[in-house]
Amino acid sequence: MTADTLSLPIDIQQTTSPRVQDVDFTNLVFGRNISDHMFVAEYRDGQWQQLRIVPYGDLSLSPATAALHYGQAIFEGMKAYKNEDNEVLLFRPHDNWKRFNRSAERMCMPTVPEEVFMNGLTELMRLDAEWVPCAPGCSLYIRPYMFAADAYLGVRPSESYLFVIFTSPVGTYYANPLKVKVETDYIRAAAGGVGAAKCAGNYAASLYPARLAQQAGYDQLIWTDARDHVFVEESGTMNVMFMLDGKLVTPAVSDTILDGITRKSIVEIARHWGISVEERKVSIREVIEALKEGRLQAAFGAGTAVVVSPFSVIAYEGVDYHLPAVEEDSFVTKVKNYLTDLRTGKIADTFGWVL
Ligand code: PMP
Repeated sequence: MTADTLSLPIDIQQTTSPRVQDVDFTNLVFGRNISDHMFVAEYRDGQWQQLRIVPYGDLSLSPATAALHYGQAIFEGMKAYKNEDNEVLLFRPHDNWKRFNRSAERMCMPTVPEEVFMNGLTELMRLDAEWVPCAPGCSLYIRPYMFAADAYLGVRPSESYLFVIFTSPVGTYYANPLKVKVETDYIRAAAGGVGAAKCAGNYAASLYPARLAQQAGYDQLIWTDARDHVFVEESGTMNVMFMLDGKLVTPAVSDTILDGITRKSIVEIARHWGISVEERKVSIREVIEALKEGRLQAAFGAGTAVVVSPFSVIAYEGVDYHLPAVEEDSFVTKVKNYLTDLRTGKIADTFGWVL
């Protein structure tokens, strides 16, 4: 942190018409309810300034706003939980902050100082603590994002940016096992590209192939490498993991794979439990062969939204391969419960992940 970013005060304007009492916390639909306040910081003249928390509301933008044309826009996704004492808990928020800044650097945007990100987040959590659901499986989804704010039509890195955080209470995610299709035509990311950044365009580009897969009866795609479509990369907006021959096997992160916080937590937990972990290239042929030979115990996606989401079918070259059902005593179930218990403060956090 440089001196000019230290101790930036946050101006707080509390809402005079709170909406929290209008929310049906027993029936939360993802993304429908947005909490009362939002944090906003502006980057201008090479400095972060005008840090404020204001009632959640529309932003006023010029039609020439650079992000709307050239996509200089990044975001994060994280969750807050309540423990039994009604305290708000965050899971590895510094990892989201660090990843946000890696995305910023890749997209030629200014980084957000730890103080701005963490103080903004903490103050917002304090003001909107009532919005954090306490029911099992529920949480407050947190969306930090930043976009190029110059009203300028030329293609160049913007000189001004807006950094915003708002939140939304979300319900239990009943994750049915997913039918996934291995994508061998379209790609999510190429070496040297922006796959490791959480930039808006990556998500826009994935919508069309995902829709084609849905029309063919699948829930989600497994992305493969852009060059040969041989190696497994990610699934939708999740990292992919396999229980293969009793080992946890997952594609190593690279510039085409997002460094998922759920993924790396599962890797650390597995090692802690004495399970051998391999982070390496995983070919789709290896997976299919292991499946045919009964050596694949499970395949699943890992991400903040679902924690883990097991696959029931992997479709490859026109064939649906069925996976064994997930057992109660399997690694997949155990790690999901363990992570959920950690995030909600039910078990001691020996890793130092919960703040
Ligand atoms: N891959 C992609 C492309 C994602 O968007 C996400 C969600 N952030 C993940 C993986 C999982 O990351 P995390 O565990 O940090 O949510």
